[in-house]
Amino acid sequence: MSVSSVLLAAVLTATAAPKALPQGGVAGIRVVSDAPLTGLVLVDGERRIPLERDPSGRSFSGLFGLDLDAKVGTREVIVESPDGAARLALPLKVLRGAFRIQKLSVDPKYVEVPPGEQERVKADGARVNAAYRSAEAARRWSSFARPVAFEGGNFGARRVYNGKTQSFHAGLDMSAPKGTPVAAAADGRVALAGDLYFSGGTVLLDHGGGLFTSYMHLSRVDVKDGDIVAKGAILGLVGATGRVTGPHLHWAAKLNGARVNPEAFLLLPVWPLSGADATP
Ligand SMILES: [Zn+2]
Repeated sequence: MSVSSVLLAAVLTATAAPKALPQGGVAGIRVVSDAPLTGLVLVDGERRIPLERDPSGRSFSGLFGLDLDAKVGTREVIVESPDGAARLALPLKVLRGAFRIQKLSVDPKYVEVPPGEQERVKADGARVNAAYRSAEAARRWSSFARPVAFEGGNFGARRVYNGKTQSFHAGLDMSAPKGTPVAAAADGRVALAGDLYFSGGTVLLDHGGGLFTSYMHLSRVDVKDGDIVAKGAILGLVGATGRVTGPHLHWAAKLNGARVNPEAFLLLPVWPLSGADATP
């Protein structure tokens, strides 16, 4: 007697929390498979975001970030196995962010870069790009805390500097006084530490799994490239260096290339998710 078997693709069930998120928002994604799989990725346009697999191979989780300039409306993210056999569409709703328009006056050298500084600005850009390219796949973080104990605001603001330059404000401005110690928001690796033209004293942390946070306008930087830091480690002091109107901490986050609101991470449960925590 012969038995013929048909190999069926695994059936996936996916949940996103929240299902509707604002521009610059972050959602927790959880996918359950009825058969073990070697991996799953989230496909969002050009982005392919690997999900974290639990030892059973049936449960996957990850974070999905929307850029602050993401198109408003319905967005379909695809959950897919590397061989394409298991596949599921996950519809998300993108809501318009409540962003202010801000008109600011800064030193004119930060609106039109003087010829003598143009090489430096170019070199800064190359350094930042290289730091982002050095991203490590393995997640280092498990939970997050505020870098300073002060409120933040202005995320996503449309900014007009000296009536001319317009840009998005891709971080949170935290109104901490000069000299306040700045703590790492989560475990990470220092991808860049130094003094940059626009952002002044700057630290960029790679938390692994596609997530970076940055800390800008510092009066002093206490870490160096390559340092491994724990959540809460002091990175430097609040200052007023670079393009600023006064002392504050600019705290920003980038998740798989999307400029997201760093406050979103403070609301997450401790990772990796398990059982009852499954829906963040
Ligand atoms: Zn800022």
